[in-house]
Amino acid sequence: MKKILNTLRRIPAWAYPQVARHALARRLRRNPIPSPELSDSDLDFFFGSTNAVDRIIDHYSFNLFDSFSSPSHEELENILHHRIEIFGSFVDVGSPIQWRRDFTTGHEWVRDHISKLQLVTQKGDVKIPWELSRFQHGVTLALGYKHSREPRFVNEWLAQFNSWRADNPPEYGCNWGNAMEVSIRAVNWIAAYHFIQDALDRPTKESILKALIQHGRFIFTHLEEFFPFNNHLIADLCGLIWLGIFLRPSKEAEHWLDYGLRELANQIRIQVLPDGASYEASTAYHRFVTEMIVETCEVLKTSQVYSQRIARNDIYLEELHKTADKMIRVVNALRKPDGSIPLFGDEDGGKWIANYKLPITNYQLPASNVQAFPHAGWFSYRHDDEYLAIRAGNNGQLGWGGHAHNDALSFEYSIGARNFLVDPGTYAYTFDPEARNMFRSTAYHNTLRVDGQEISRIPEGELFRLEDDVRCRVIAHNDSMWEGEHTGYTRLGVIHRRRFEKTATGWRIGDTVSGVGSRTLEWFFHFDPICAVEIDQNRVITKFALSPNIQIESNLQSLIPNLQTGFVSRVYGQRAPAPVAVFRLNVSLPIEVEFMISPFSVKS
Ligand SMILES: [Zn+2]
Repeated sequence: MKKILNTLRRIPAWAYPQVARHALARRLRRNPIPSPELSDSDLDFFFGSTNAVDRIIDHYSFNLFDSFSSPSHEELENILHHRIEIFGSFVDVGSPIQWRRDFTTGHEWVRDHISKLQLVTQKGDVKIPWELSRFQHGVTLALGYKHSREPRFVNEWLAQFNSWRADNPPEYGCNWGNAMEVSIRAVNWIAAYHFIQDALDRPTKESILKALIQHGRFIFTHLEEFFPFNNHLIADLCGLIWLGIFLRPSKEAEHWLDYGLRELANQIRIQVLPDGASYEASTAYHRFVTEMIVETCEVLKTSQVYSQRIARNDIYLEELHKTADKMIRVVNALRKPDGSIPLFGDEDGGKWIANYKLPITNYQLPASNVQAFPHAGWFSYRHDDEYLAIRAGNNGQLGWGGHAHNDALSFEYSIGARNFLVDPGTYAYTFDPEARNMFRSTAYHNTLRVDGQEISRIPEGELFRLEDDVRCRVIAHNDSMWEGEHTGYTRLGVIHRRRFEKTATGWRIGDTVSGVGSRTLEWFFHFDPICAVEIDQNRVITKFALSPNIQIESNLQSLIPNLQTGFVSRVYGQRAPAPVAVFRLNVSLPIEVEFMISPFSVKS
């Protein structure tokens, strides 16, 4: 009872209707109604008449944008041999494909109704079967057919589609675990259908349409409208829009399209900040949401929905397109010299459709050394080859912090394509709670820890929430300086203020730690796994044979760094050992400490 009251206290009053609706839906789902395969008359009913089904199938008119990269011969061969890329590794998924299995641990989710399944378990990571069942590799196969016209790619796609459907009846098995998974699979099926439809016979086309109808109905009745709203609901709504466009002129599909557009506009007002960044405190989720919105905008244009609705003064569409532009600009502005984005907050490799190329190169940045997104708390600096990204934001999701890390005043630093100091990433969600909490802890960020405490407390047993402890305030910034502070340690009577200053020889970081009493201060510097590092008296030095290298030293001669081994995870589910330099000091507050990051060249 106390737990329920505590949960209710954390939910803002305006979110009560959504929470109540979700609880009711959960109760109803305990007594599920089995969903059998749709019959031919169901198909006629969905489209209004047999004639309409004929029209859809014989006069295919769906238009898809053309922003796809061509798959390589090797990629296609791998998929034909059931070696599917899941979270950056090629996995042998079996023949027939084991759609409900975590291939790392061997755990398999039974084919039971979703209301009875335990998705979160340490026996396996449900994200692995989910990722496979998103069918993104299916678009790669379909593109293989588009470029080569070889029927074997279509045959393989069809064999996998039929095998998946036989193994995963609607609402049964982990792959119906949430509407987002269903949405992503549906749009990847739509994209594949688009590229291979001229090679399909009528019964096959009918069976794909039936599967898409089942997916649309599932999404519409399982919208993830609970607090805190997040990327899942955006995926659900984008899925409805895609299905709505693809399955027109069905009245039911038109309704999905109308509903999806209206609710997506509402969600954007909640989930996209005025500076164009996602409100989830995660650069990777920002990128994922950007892809969903940009690709949905593109399909609205290529399918003529945009022009038809703009002619009817549809204000939602204009807003959606303006938001998409702002969101791409954020991705472009944060891009590191190696083309990746800094990993602030959670990252799980989410993408909308396979082989899609986000048009970031079309978006020119203003001529300035600094790109600032103050609402998200993301700042990037470029001076010649040097790149610095600073994180100074709140926990996101209106204080829930489901995808935030303890990264206040942390930063990433690169020279050219060589990454030196990085955010160690995410690695795990539910399959390894200890690692999940380690990767989002203060010690796993390039910032200061006081008395071994977290900046925002990590609640016991909750893997997708942080206590709403931190507020970041930017005091000043210009094109060669940034200064701000955070309030995460006010419960200890301590404020951490940090100033980054570009100097002729690198970046100076000045930390002011105010408060009283004797405290243990620990500064962490996480190096990229490619860096070999050594300590030389009070300096940390990288050991690349070829320039550039960097050194980090403090202005306090007595502050001697200590070298530890941590982890960096660039891809969800994988982690590599990496050096961490830790400077530790027992001291009476207040105190000011400086660190100098200086690039240097190797003498030949
Ligand atoms: Zn992080």
